[in-house]
Parts: sequence; C-alpha cells; structure tokens
Amino acid sequence: MTVNGAEHRGDLVLGRLTKRFDGPIVVDDVSLTVPAGSICALLGPSGSGKTTLLRLIAGLELADSGTIHLGERVFVDRATNLPPEKRRIGMVFQDWALFPHLSVADNVGFGLGKHPNPARVAEVLELVGLADLGRRQPGTLSGGQQQRVALARALAPEPTVLLMDEPFSNLDVAMRARIRREVHALLRGAGVTTIFVTHDQEEAFVLGDQVAVMREGRIVQAAPPRELYEHPADAWVAAFVGQANLIPGQAAGATATTAFGTVPLRSSAHGPVSVLVRPEHLIVESGQEAEITFVEYFGHDSLISCRLADGTELYVRSPHTGLSEGDWVRLRCVQIATIGFPESDRYC
Ligand code: ADP
Ligand code: MG
Repeated sequence: MTVNGAEHRGDLVLGRLTKRFDGPIVVDDVSLTVPAGSICALLGPSGSGKTTLLRLIAGLELADSGTIHLGERVFVDRATNLPPEKRRIGMVFQDWALFPHLSVADNVGFGLGKHPNPARVAEVLELVGLADLGRRQPGTLSGGQQQRVALARALAPEPTVLLMDEPFSNLDVAMRARIRREVHALLRGAGVTTIFVTHDQEEAFVLGDQVAVMREGRIVQAAPPRELYEHPADAWVAAFVGQANLIPGQAAGATATTAFGTVPLRSSAHGPVSVLVRPEHLIVESGQEAEITFVEYFGHDSLISCRLADGTELYVRSPHTGLSEGDWVRLRCVQIATIGFPESDRYC
C-alpha cells in the first residue's frame, strides 16, 4: 500500500532555522537533513526546543529565518511560507489528541476530507493492526491501541512527512518497548520520512536511523546512534547519550595519563584533556587502588561506583556480582581507544 506517494519523495532539509518568541532564542540556527524514507530521532532535554522545531516544520509556527525544503519543493524560504495543509505533514501529538466522541474509523477518516474513502480507512486500520476495532470509541481501547489510532489518523492522508512528538510518553514502561518495536516495523514498512521527538536516549537509539541531539535550541550533533555513542561531539553529548566517566588526564599524542593509568586516545591530543571512559569499558580486578562506594544490582549486570585515591568517582558496568560496598579493587580500561575532550569542555 502507499503511505508516502512517490511524488512526495525527497529529503527533508532544514537550513539555518531560527525562532524566538518574546524571550530568548528557542530554535537557534538549526540545519538538518532527513533522507527520504528514514527516521530521525530528535533527542534533547525538556525545554530544548524540540516541539517548536516540529511546529516550524509543520507550518504551525513561522520561522524568523531559515529554509525548509522537501526534495524540490519549498516549504519555507525568504519568499515562501507554504500553509500547513499544502505541506501535507502528518502529526502525532504527545497526548494523541483523539476525538473521544468519534469512532476509531471516524478518527482515522478525519484528515480525509468531508467524505472519507472507507476503503482507505480500512486499509490504514489494517496497516496498524486495528482492522476489527473501527467501530469502537477511543476511550474503550488500551493505551497502545489508542497510540496506533493516532498513528493511523496521521498516515491516512498519505503524508509527505510524519512528525511524532513524544508519542510513547503516555504508555507504561512495559508497553513502551513493545509498542515502539511495532511502530518501528510499521514506519519501516511504510517507508515514510519521520521525525520523532523524545527525551529518552534508549528510545532515540532504538528508533532512529540518525539521532539529532538538541540542546538550548541548537542541534549539537546529528549522527547514527553508534557514532553518537562512540564519537560524541562534546562532553555534554557524551553524558547525555549514556553514562560517561569524564576524568581529567594529560594527553601526550596518542595516549593520555589519568588517575587510573595510561589510556590510548582515538585521536591525537596534547595537554590537559577530559577523557571519556564508558562504564562498560572498565573492569574491576583484585587490588587496593579504588574503594567501592556502592553497587546497584540489575540482574543482567551491576553498576559499581569506585572512588580512586585522589577522590575521582568512576562508574563501572560489570557482570561481576560478588563485590559490595567497602571492598577494594583495581580498575583497568579495556576500551581500545577513547576520546579526549579539551578540558574546558568538562560538564560533569
Ligand atoms: P521541548 O519540546 O524541547 O520541551 P519547546 O519547544 O516546547 O521545548 O520549548 C522551548 C522553549 O520555548 C521553552 O522555554 C518554552 O517555554 C518556549 N516556548 C515554546 N512555545 C512558546 C510560545 N508559544 N511562546 C513563548 N515561548 C514558547
Ligand atoms: Mg516538547
């Protein structure tokens, strides 16, 4: 079935978008390319401007400056501000915004004009696995089903681009993982270009072909999840996309000397640096160099906090479960290469 008509194919390209309301700048010089048919997770803390950026793309807010293109089509430039209905963008809101008094089928048909084609409604309900529930009212459905009604409604008019604003935040934890897997498969199958907002790193990594990290209105890095985790652009990103030990070191070319030994650097540096060592890249051995200050047991592994002689606290993720608070250990870094940031870049 078609969800994204061939004539709409094209990369979504944001160029230097800026938006301020009365106060400080909310979207600050944002450039981003979302390749046709791919999923981009927009990840950032609350208040970083994610929703505002989605609203600029949808045409619900007007940018102060910058451009938005979809393939050859201009949505926004100096001379153009295409109205929302002409952009044909599908939106799924945080609270889903279903109409409680309409049936599921009527909710889905809502974006299809005065006389929605019942065949199209049935087709989209089938796509999201709700073929038998068209007559029900949203209030009688589970959270996961309501989420899929919202998705079906957004997909029904064959949107050029799908925008989803924290779509899973209303679901309980157990359901979230399952629903996001289903939605992922569905979006993949449909091949619709999607931007998906979240403040949850795990969600961003699981769903995003690329993850754009937003901080104080700026996109500080946009990259595939693995690259983001292994090559964060700065110490803040390093700590935002996972747990990070950022420890002071002295770089001398390919290595840096730190409180727990010499570590190889991914790229050459000189002078004071802060070195990123992920907790899973440290292992504990028997020794007397660090004291364990706490152990959190997660079943599949444990998070162990160790204090070195100079007071530095380091996290270690370890399958080892025999250790407890007050034990003494030695730490070894088993990462092949790690990253040194300029010391001024230290946030932790
Ligand atoms: P996020 O979705 O990342 O939490 P938002 O885009 O909702 O962030 O908000 C970013 C900032 O812009 C916040 O400080 C918010 O108060 C401000 N903001 C958002 N919309 C408006 C508006 N219509 N008028 C004034 N300030 C706004
Ligand atoms: Mg928001």
